[in-house]
Order: sequence, then structure tokens, then C-alpha cells
Amino acid sequence: MPLDDPLSLRVGALNTRLKHHAAADVLRHAFEAAPNLALVSSFGAESVALLHLAATVKRDVQVLFIDTMLLFPETLVYQRDVARRLGLRRVRVIRADTSVADPDDTLHQRDPDACCDLRKTQVLNTALEGFDGWITGRKRFQSGQRAELPPFEVEEATGRIKVNPLAHWSAADVQDYIAENNLPRHPLVARGYPSIGCAPCTTPVAEGEDPRAGRWRGKDKDECGIHFVNGKMVRTGATT
Ligand code: SF4
Repeated sequence: MPLDDPLSLRVGALNTRLKHHAAADVLRHAFEAAPNLALVSSFGAESVALLHLAATVKRDVQVLFIDTMLLFPETLVYQRDVARRLGLRRVRVIRADTSVADPDDTLHQRDPDACCDLRKTQVLNTALEGFDGWITGRKRFQSGQRAELPPFEVEEATGRIKVNPLAHWSAADVQDYIAENNLPRHPLVARGYPSIGCAPCTTPVAEGEDPRAGRWRGKDKDECGIHFVNGKMVRTGATT
């Protein structure tokens, strides 16, 4: 998409205006610019911060939760608990049809990229049809690929806007927000899981390890690949 198309110009203006603004301000302007946004959440270790913030800005925010059907049972219980406690009335649970491509749930062992593509990327892309854009919990501190993450992006492959209201937050900011607002923690955090994905691909993390070291441990993979850059689906980050 050329950088002088109307959407890119609008997103560029929003970034110039709001790059130093608080996350709530970014969200308010995002909903003004594109009212039909969906918040995509994994209901993982840190997700509750963005869910709470978004519900504060827009009470009836549309949430999309990707149930890969290989999540920890604790995540499914936590998802329902968080939705109830935050008063999230519009949580849509989305699931892939895996009956043909992965009938025995073993694709993650043979080809984790294909598994993430089947269970996350494709199903999310279908669910986002009809939305102006989506809100993610990505943050600059999470990896080098995210070091330049702006609050607003244009998803070139789809022409949707992507909003990263927590882009400038540190790990401590997330923890402070959760503590200050007395938000419920995912039960696996206390059991050594600072980052939580699917059960077969997530291990606890030892003290001193990178918080994401338990994701796809031992595999050449550290992202789920549900983002688009330069027209292609690429590994640029989990949503939360
Ligand atoms: Fe499959 Fe693992 Fe990706 Fe989950 S995280 S979709 S189990 S490869």
C-alpha cells in the first residue's frame, strides 16, 4: 500500500499526534478514527491489563479470543472469570476446523508454524473480516522486532488499522497496572509461567531466563505469526 494513500496518511497523523500519549488516549482516538475495532486477546499472563483498559474506554468493546483447542484448562477458566469480572459482554470465541489438517492434534510436533497458521492465523484473519481493524497488546520491550512499534499501523495485506496502545509500556508498567487495579492474575503465573500460550508449546521459566523462554522451548520459533508485514503473514508477534 503506498504511503500516501488516505489510510496511511491518517495513521501517520495519528502516530505523530499521539506517540507520546497515554494508552487510554490512544484507544480513545482509535475508536474515534475506526469505531469498528476488535480487541484480540489470548487471555494470557498479561492480557488482563489491556482488556481492563479497553473496557474502561469502551464498555462494550468487541473481544476476539482464539481458542486453539490446545490451551491450558486454566486459561479457559480464567477467560470466563476475567470476562465476568470486567463485564465484557462481547467476547467471541473463535476456533479453527482442525478435522482435516490436524485430526490427531500432532501437527505442533511436526510443524509448529503450520499449526499456528491453522489454529491462530487463518481463523483470526477470517474473524477480522468486516472489522476496520484490531487492537493488540504488543509492546516494544518484548523483542527486537517490536523495538520500533508505533501506536498505530496499517496492515498492508488487508487495509486494516492495527492499534498497539501498550507499545511504550515496560514490563513493570504492566505489573503496576494490574496491581493498582487489583486485576485477577492467570493462575499459571504463580506457577512459573510469565508467558502463556498453548499447553504443548509452553513450559515454566527458570529465574533469570527471558520471560518468553518457555514458548516453543528448543524450537527455532518465538512468535505465533498472526501479524502481517509488507503484504505477508509473518512472525512478528503474539497479540499479548
Ligand atoms: Fe500449535 Fe503450539 Fe502454535 Fe498452539 S502454540 S497453535 S499448539 S504450534
